[in-house]
Amino acid sequence: MTFEGLDELYREVILDHFKNPRHHGKIASHDVEQEGFNPLCGDSITLQLKFEGGKIKSVGHWGKGCSISQASVSILTDEILGKDIEEAQEEIQLFKDMMQGKDVKQKIEKKESGDMEALSGVQKFPVRIKCALLPWTTLEEALHTWKKIQNY
Ligand code: ZN
Repeated sequence: MTFEGLDELYREVILDHFKNPRHHGKIASHDVEQEGFNPLCGDSITLQLKFEGGKIKSVGHWGKGCSISQASVSILTDEILGKDIEEAQEEIQLFKDMMQGKDVKQKIEKKESGDMEALSGVQKFPVRIKCALLPWTTLEEALHTWKKIQNY
């Protein structure tokens, strides 16, 4: 895509995550593996999560797709590492709210990393919102699966 209309700073953050994805590749051992696919754009991602003491101890991902989907999954892995399920779900909700154009400025400003905010400009491109959301809905499914496993 062209990033016309996106703030330059945001553009740089997105391209950086796309070119140098954080936590890329499989992890040594995982508890949950979840695939996600966005047929509208052809984006596919796979997420792996390892939990310890109720927190996300390690996370890995791979796949292929547009710069928005791949940058979004990289940003996601940075955000959720070390968080428990409840905190991770709050991140998912925050990201969804941001994509829906809700006012999340205050919550985002409290965060250590501002990288998630770089994707806020995507709401101006409705066709790309699904690309940006894909990793977060995939994580949601992964957490759901993990909760089910825990209840056995
Ligand atoms: Zn895409």
